[in-house]
Amino acid sequence: MKNLETICVQGGWKAKKGEAQQLPIYQSTTFRYETSEQMARLFDLEDEGYFYTRLANPTNDAVAQKIARLEGGVGAMLTSSGQAANFYAIFNICQAGDHFITSNTIYGGTFNLFGVTLKKLGIECTFVDPDWDDERIEAEFRPNTKLVFGETISNPGCNIFDIERFAKIAHRHGVPLIVDNTFATPINCRPFEWGCDIVTHSTTKYMDGHATQVGGVVVDSGNFDWEAHADKFPGLCTPDESYHGLTYTKAFGKMGYMTKLVAQLMRDLGSIPSPQNSFLLNLGLETLHLRMPRHCENAQRVAEWLEANPQVAWVNYAGLPSNKYHALAQKYLPNGTCGVIAFGLKGSREDAIRFMDSLDFISIVTHVADARTCVLHPASHTHRQLSDEQLMEAGVAPDLIRLSVGIENVDDIIADLKQAMEKSTMVE
Ligand SMILES: *Cc1c(COP(=O)(O)O)cnc(C)c1O
Repeated sequence: MKNLETICVQGGWKAKKGEAQQLPIYQSTTFRYETSEQMARLFDLEDEGYFYTRLANPTNDAVAQKIARLEGGVGAMLTSSGQAANFYAIFNICQAGDHFITSNTIYGGTFNLFGVTLKKLGIECTFVDPDWDDERIEAEFRPNTKLVFGETISNPGCNIFDIERFAKIAHRHGVPLIVDNTFATPINCRPFEWGCDIVTHSTTKYMDGHATQVGGVVVDSGNFDWEAHADKFPGLCTPDESYHGLTYTKAFGKMGYMTKLVAQLMRDLGSIPSPQNSFLLNLGLETLHLRMPRHCENAQRVAEWLEANPQVAWVNYAGLPSNKYHALAQKYLPNGTCGVIAFGLKGSREDAIRFMDSLDFISIVTHVADARTCVLHPASHTHRQLSDEQLMEAGVAPDLIRLSVGIENVDDIIADLKQAMEKSTMVE
């Protein structure tokens, strides 16, 4: 079983004789052992087994394993949200006094996490424009820089991240590249194949696909050589006093990063998904390989329709040959990017709002990358906290409408957009 379609359906849970065919929901905080000695060995990380759901749960693990296989990683850990996934991925490497470099075209929540909350913890970052040349980006590295971060397809700007180029830059400075692969999903792009070291997802989006659960995941490729840069990564390469003086990279090799993530960060900070949510996520994953091509096919048609529409000021969809990121999309996402389109309407902010209010089944929701087509105006919704200057810095034009094209019939989607444009009293 090596093809993604089969892993989507069959990966993770494998029923043994007489067991449930569908992934069971182990809705239990704890797991029983027969002797005190058996339990003690688990706490020493000498035996593998479940004992407390904050550290590991069979339902959560089965889903994590499926995602690890889809991405081609050595292991994965589910979190209760995409925000938690990005926080954990970084906090597993960085501590107070450290610094990292991030693309500035990233999700608004991540932008705040990095620029505001991590700063309060003593971790600083520099936002770089991914379109800068290597020299200008490399000038931002400091002796305490510990990683580089970007999004395969940025939310909501829909820019494509040059993964291979950024992996090379990061590796030249002895640090890993972390990529948030939420919008592409492993069906359309597998960042590890381009040199990326760690992948994160908000599983809330396409992986779930049905707006049922909020979740996240961190996946490690196992490829980054922490020991070769041991002075930069003391948390991984020197003894952890809170785990009997064990050194993660030495004791677990390629699983060092993952083991620290679970045994130290999840142990201390929590934020696991409920097994019920992981079950729902798994149902979504079973059809991810069928849904993604349909999202791309529909979005391509809608993007072409928008581009040809005189009421539309601009469209950013990397599937369009006119798009600035078309060549990068063809390299990294040859089967299609995703269903999300960013565009702007001619006219005022009020016209854009009137357009959205006139939509019929296309709904205004704080959500994206879902089976149902939906819209959002980031400047008045998700990115409300950002000033106009920060908006532009994050690649979000004030007139940007984020349209998430679903898997309905595309003629109905276009008809809804058309009638809403006609109803709003826009120019021409
Ligand atoms: C939604 C999103 C997040 C945050 O995920 P939540 O599950 O909402 O916490 C992070 N990154 C990207 C690219 C997203 O789209």
